[in-house]
Amino acid sequence: KLHNTILELKGNIRVFCRVRPLLPEDGISTEGKVISYPTSLESLGRGIDVAQNGQKHAFTFDQVFMPDAPQDDVFVEISQLVQSALDGYKVCIFAYGQTGSGKTYTMMGRPGHPEQKGLIPRSLEQIFQTKQSLQPQGWRYEMQVSMLEIYNETIRDLISTNRSSPTENGVAGKQYSIKHDANGNSHVSDLTIVDVRSAKEVSFLLDQAAQSRSVGKTQMNEQSSRSHFVFTLRIFGVNESTDQQVQGVLNLIDLAGSERLSKSGSTGDRLKETQAINKSLSSLSDVILALAKKEDHIPFRNSKLTYLLQPCLGGDSKTLMFVNISPDPSSVGESLCSLRFAARVN
Ligand code: ADP
Ligand code: MG
Repeated sequence: KLHNTILELKGNIRVFCRVRPLLPEDGISTEGKVISYPTSLESLGRGIDVAQNGQKHAFTFDQVFMPDAPQDDVFVEISQLVQSALDGYKVCIFAYGQTGSGKTYTMMGRPGHPEQKGLIPRSLEQIFQTKQSLQPQGWRYEMQVSMLEIYNETIRDLISTNRSSPTENGVAGKQYSIKHDANGNSHVSDLTIVDVRSAKEVSFLLDQAAQSRSVGKTQMNEQSSRSHFVFTLRIFGVNESTDQQVQGVLNLIDLAGSERLSKSGSTGDRLKETQAINKSLSSLSDVILALAKKEDHIPFRNSKLTYLLQPCLGGDSKTLMFVNISPDPSSVGESLCSLRFAARVN
């Protein structure tokens, strides 16, 4: 595949833009007024134009997915990246965008519509299939899954069996802390890590995590859009005939909504929440930008998210950022913000 080749040849950071279709709840029947695509052959599939107040803003990304791009078309473009985790690479795939722009759809898909399942289930199916197909060549793999949520700079375990009584702001009793070991891996103290042998087992855990997040949602003011969801698959491979060993990591991250929340209007918990999201999203772009510029100091420590993912960002690891945007004309301001954020790290 051409695009996968591009992905291999150019550096380690890619940015894909995905525009979701107009939905009945957007309350508009005509599309394409604010968002359009250049028609020149060179930029086809890579360019996106946004009109605001009669002005046209043009952006170019590694790939642009139009509203009608089905989930499997999107997956085709990342399957090789997913595959590289089995070859021992550390991979991060992020979904960035305002609430309602399609981040969770891109990552998880639409509940109850298996044909619209997202990147996470598709990636797992592919990984377990490949694991099977590599068996005759002597490869044996062990896989471990963990899932967590970062809310207000606090980690919450989404697999923990001990999450019966989250406190008011969503923090389970424990204070999870992040440590880096000598091999450059990060560890979260007390975090539940589950050995998994099939995509089905992982999908069970994902359902559990979704349950755990939605419990939080009603109790905690739509917390799920105000928190980062981090799915981590660790892969340990050994070749029984050659003794070759590989250790890869696949991180799939559904970020908190990027909408600008006015600091002046919010107080108390809401203000704290807003500051935490702004801080971690700007830390993430600072880190990606510093990595792209090959700066000496990379500010990983400025947020929990970047500190957690430090071993999987930079070095020879691979990063892909989806910037999800809504075609709704009333979202044009937010869409431009998201596109500028993405263009900054692209
Ligand atoms: P976010 O996670 O960014 O808040 P969602 O993923 O929940 O946004 O998407 C908002 C709504 O739009 C959901 O109902 C979702 O099913 C729908 N949606 C998003 N992207 C697409 C798409 N590419 N195709 C069809 N429906 C989509
Ligand atoms: Mg979401």
